[in-house]
Amino acid sequence: MFRSARIKLTLYYLFIIMVISLLFSGVVYRGVTFEIERGVRRQAVRMMPFDEFFPNDIHEEIITEAKQRVALELVIINFCIFIVSGTAGYFLAGKTLKPIAEMVDEQKQFVADASHELRTPLTAIKTENEVALRDKKLDLKFARELIKSNLEEINNLKSLTDYFLTLSKYQDANTKLQNEVFDLSRALQEVINRLKPMARVKNIEFSTKLDSVKVRANKISIIELITILVDNAIKYSHENGEVKVEITHKNNTAILKVEDFGVGIKAEDIGLIFNRFYRADSSRTKNQAVGYGLGLSIAKSIADLNCGKIVVNSTFGKGSTFTFFLPSHA
Ligand code: ADP
Repeated sequence: MFRSARIKLTLYYLFIIMVISLLFSGVVYRGVTFEIERGVRRQAVRMMPFDEFFPNDIHEEIITEAKQRVALELVIINFCIFIVSGTAGYFLAGKTLKPIAEMVDEQKQFVADASHELRTPLTAIKTENEVALRDKKLDLKFARELIKSNLEEINNLKSLTDYFLTLSKYQDANTKLQNEVFDLSRALQEVINRLKPMARVKNIEFSTKLDSVKVRANKISIIELITILVDNAIKYSHENGEVKVEITHKNNTAILKVEDFGVGIKAEDIGLIFNRFYRADSSRTKNQAVGYGLGLSIAKSIADLNCGKIVVNSTFGKGSTFTFFLPSHA
C-alpha cells in the first residue's frame, strides 16, 4: 500500500513539474526561434547585394537548422528534468509518506495488541459459560460462582476499555488540555488517600516528604499520572513494604519522586516499559501483578502534554524510583 501510494504521489509531482516545464519550453522555443528568424532575415536583407554568393535558401536552411537545434536542446533539457524530478519526487514522496506509514503501522500494532488483550477475558467468559451450559445439573451455588467469575472478567474488560479511551485521549495530537494553577503536593496527597486501602491489603506503608509547590498544568491528567506511578509502586512492592513519596522544588521545576523497594526492573527492560502493552517478564511471573502494560504509556503521554518528563531508576530485585519533573508556577 505504502509503495503504490509513493509511486502515485511521485507521478503527481512529476505531472505538475512536467506540465510547467513543457509550457515553459514552448514559450522558450517560440521566443528563441522568433529571434533567430528575425536575425537571419535581417542579415539576409543586408546581404542582398551579394545574393550571388549567398543564395536565399541558405538563410532558410540556417533557420531550419537553428530551430531543430533549439528543439533538440529543449527535449534534452526536459528529459533531464523528467529524470531528476522523478528521482527527487520519489525521494520526497517517501519522506512525506513516512510518518503516515509509521502511524498506520502503529495503529495496526495497537489493534493487534488490543485484540489480543481483549481475547483473554472473552475466551474465559465463553469457556466458563459453555461448560456451565453443558452441565445438566447446574445448581444455584455453582451458577452464582459462575456469575461472580463472569463479573470479574467483565470488570477486567471494562478497565481495559477505560485504558484504551484514556490512551486515545492523551495520545491524540489535537488534544488541548485546560491548565490551572494548583499545589502538586495536595494532588499527590489526594492520590495517596485514594490508594491507601489498596496499600493496606499488602500492608504497605507510605512515607511522605511533601514541599508545597505550585504548578500550572492540567490537574486531572496530572492526578492520573501520579495515580499510575503510585499504583505501580504498590503493585510491584513486596508485602509489608514501604513506598516513599517526595515533592521538592529546584530551578523552577517541581520534582515528584515515587520510590519502592519491590521487584525492580531489569536494565534491558527500562527502555521498553513506556511502550504500549509492554510488561516485563518479572512482573508477569514473579509478582503476578494485574496489568496490561498501558499505565506508563499513558503517564508518558500526560507528561509530554504538560511539558514534563518522567525518569526511571531501578535495580532489579531491589526497587525502583520514578521521578516526574514539571515546570513550577512562579
Ligand atoms: P502495568 O503495570 O499495567 O503492567 P505499566 O505500563 O504501568 O503497566 O508498566 C509497564 C511495566 O513496567 C510493568 O508491567 C512492570 O514490568 C514495569 N514497572 C512499572 N512500574 C514498576 C515498578 N514500580 N516496579 C517494577 N516494575 C515496574
